[in-house]
Amino acid sequence: MAIQNNRLSTEQYEQNFRDIDPRFESSTAAKVEANRCLFCYDAPCTKSCPTHIDVPKFIKQIATDNVKGSAHTIFISNIMGAGCSKVCPVEKLCEGACVYNLLEEEPIQIAKLQEYSTLKALEENWKLFERKPSTGKKVAIIGAGPSGLSCAHVLAVEGVDVTIFEKEKKGGGLMTFGIAAYKVTPEFCESEVNYITSTGGIEIKYNHELGKNLPAGRQGITLPQLKKEFDATYLAFGVGETRPLKIPGEKLEGVVDAIKFIYELRNNGYSSVPVGDKVAVIGMGMTAIDAATQSKRLGAKEVTLIYRRTEEEMPCTEYEFNLAKLDGCEVIWLASPIKIKGRKGKVKSLVCSRMKLGEPDASGRRSPVGTGETFTLDVDMVIKATGQAPFEKLINKLKIKNAKGKISIDSNGATNIKGVFAGGDAVNGGKEVVDAVEAGKNGANAILKYIGLR
Ligand SMILES: Cc1cc2nc3c(=O)[nH]c(=O)nc-3n(C[C@H](O)[C@H](O)[C@H](O)COP(=O)(O)OP(=O)(O)OC[C@H]3O[C@@H](n4cnc5c(N)ncnc54)[C@H](O)[C@@H]3O)c2cc1C
Ligand code: SF4
Repeated sequence: MAIQNNRLSTEQYEQNFRDIDPRFESSTAAKVEANRCLFCYDAPCTKSCPTHIDVPKFIKQIATDNVKGSAHTIFISNIMGAGCSKVCPVEKLCEGACVYNLLEEEPIQIAKLQEYSTLKALEENWKLFERKPSTGKKVAIIGAGPSGLSCAHVLAVEGVDVTIFEKEKKGGGLMTFGIAAYKVTPEFCESEVNYITSTGGIEIKYNHELGKNLPAGRQGITLPQLKKEFDATYLAFGVGETRPLKIPGEKLEGVVDAIKFIYELRNNGYSSVPVGDKVAVIGMGMTAIDAATQSKRLGAKEVTLIYRRTEEEMPCTEYEFNLAKLDGCEVIWLASPIKIKGRKGKVKSLVCSRMKLGEPDASGRRSPVGTGETFTLDVDMVIKATGQAPFEKLINKLKIKNAKGKISIDSNGATNIKGVFAGGDAVNGGKEVVDAVEAGKNGANAILKYIGLR
């Protein structure tokens, strides 16, 4: 058993990581699907979208050949509508709410229709928003992820001059460095960021990080500096590394953080990322699925997901679970890691406790408890995907009120520091892209009021 990189040929890597999402092949195919829509009054699909996209309206526009209008309808609610069409867990949002489900028929393919018009807009660089003349107001945003970009877009359209400070060398946040490349390719992420900034009024300063003790090549910035130079600041720096397992053996070579693993994969290219023969992935959320499927696609022979609850409680969607199954990943339910064993400093096996679900608590949730029985899995790599921890140290250093590192905001999106607003994963602790986009819109509207433009 060995952890190694460069396991596959270039062609095989390309095949394994190409976009899995086939588009409508023709405008006729899109129109046929659009014409199935019942254009419901008080549409449940719209209600279930966190950004409230007017779904029947944009579908009607596709049905009547008004693709540009349709893209505008989507972007006005969600400027990352193209990315969301590829990554949103639609079965628990719009498509899950479609009335066709009640008729026991396939729901309308809302995501695919959304992708149809928004990708056209990106590819043909349709100018759908006119920026108002500059008002002279300046806003700083920390982080060029979905929340920061969405906030920047609303502000820029209103004539605010926006500067985004981003610690990485590319924008898009976890869209670019987190979510699996077969859902959103690097080229797509770059084109989405470029499309958003093409409206004007947004400058992204890459390699700029809020905080101190920075590695060479990164420019440090501080909150007092921003408060002096800008009329308001929006913090959209997301969350940090994976939470530790806190079990013996966690420091062995071959134990990796899912976020770092995926970051390297997306930043350095597939062939340079080492993967084991036998990989255990701890967790069953979106990150765990992405780490497991990508390990397989990098050439791992066996990948096993370890989850302490049952299929009923798994945080990933059915669609994600099916992706992992199709890639040949196995799942061990009701199991929790208790020790990682090694030889010569390297991972050799993972010891797990068998779990059972205990009695329901006041909320009806049943917590897993150990049965006393254990089992051992031969593995040479363990990927931790047990949720991301917020940047608690940084937030405390900035003296921002928080709950265990999640930034606290009031109903206007404002933090305890005057003129400083926040949203996205940094506030909610880690949800989905569509939630971060909505938070960015809300933050922008609160800032517009604060700086006197509303
Ligand atoms: C592996 C993985 C898979 C996921 N899969 C999905 C999915 O399929 N569908 C879905 O909807 N959601 C998915 N998510 C969740 C989704 O990516 C996030 O909810 C969303 O990106 C949050 O947006 P954000 O802008 O709040 O934060 P981020 O996307 O994290 O963006 C924050 C930005 O701030 C920058 N930054 C951080 N600290 C600083 C600093 N000190 N100074 C300057 N810049 C800084 C970061 O580099 C980053 O660009 C996934 C997440 C992960 C980790
Ligand atoms: S619920 Fe379904 S059928 Fe009704 S408007 Fe939405 S997509 Fe169309």
